[in-house]
Amino acid sequence: MLVTDDLRHAEAWADRARRAGLSLGFVPTMGALHAGHFSLIERARRECDRVAVSIFVNPLQFGPGEDLDRYPRTLEADLAGSRAAGADLVFTPRDRGEGGIYSPGFGTTVEVADLSAPLCGERRPGHFRGVATVVAVLLGIFRPHRAYFGQKDFQQARVIERMAADLRLGARIVIAPTVREPDGLAMSSRNRYLSGEERVQAAAIPAALREVEAAFRAGETRASRLKEMAAARLRSASGLRLDYAEVLDARTLKPVPDDRVDRAPEGAVLAVAAFIGKTRLIDNSWLRAAAPAGRRPPIL
Ligand code: AMP
Repeated sequence: MLVTDDLRHAEAWADRARRAGLSLGFVPTMGALHAGHFSLIERARRECDRVAVSIFVNPLQFGPGEDLDRYPRTLEADLAGSRAAGADLVFTPRDRGEGGIYSPGFGTTVEVADLSAPLCGERRPGHFRGVATVVAVLLGIFRPHRAYFGQKDFQQARVIERMAADLRLGARIVIAPTVREPDGLAMSSRNRYLSGEERVQAAAIPAALREVEAAFRAGETRASRLKEMAAARLRSASGLRLDYAEVLDARTLKPVPDDRVDRAPEGAVLAVAAFIGKTRLIDNSWLRAAAPAGRRPPIL
């Protein structure tokens, strides 16, 4: 496995693979890798001839007062885990300066309208602009056939999908299922911030999602009711402060037609964010009719 912080080296490696007729898979990350990230690398390994991973804590997607300075950095373990998961190249670029992601004179930002507006977009102004911009640069460097994202960050995946389609970047965006801890908590680099007690309290988030999923399966299709159910559960959970709970059309991230989840062609996403102490966690559940036997659901 190659490891490089050199942008031109990464570009040349990807060019060579493409010219040799090999398919290229790409998994962008911010490091502090866990089983969720590794599941993306393993999937890329299964589906592509060459697999590149990037590890870059992107300052552009952090707001003032957010956790940029204390974001966990575990490079040695990340490299070992990436190798074990089947990566061929890990790209660990610098931020600024010659050969950095934001090279001198860098003057472009990418803004994906509408999909960036609700949920985390509303709470973290500029966040998705930062995400879309860095992913556009990374897709420009690797020009992969497929790029892999986790459903854990559902809105992010939709924003990237739109950007890749609009700008005709040529990468197929794959959205892979959320990997969870045994108690259901979605794996996240930010789970490392939680104290022992907070970690126990965090289990209320997946518990709320499971409860709403059960109500949906039992026939409740009113988005407002499902949303209220999640909000009530999270408001009453000890140690949690609800940031948002929303049920939105899973394709457009707008309200579902007539408040009816079953009227949205791709179902709805129940998206939640909550603070536990200073740590903000997000999670979601995709509420949709079961795929007919033998057919896979749209993008998993
Ligand atoms: P991050 O390092 O947090 O920027 O995440 C890098 C990629 O890994 C993103 O596409 C995330 O959605 C994905 N990811 C993070 N956590 C999980 C998880 N628990 N399951 C699946 N994918 C994940």
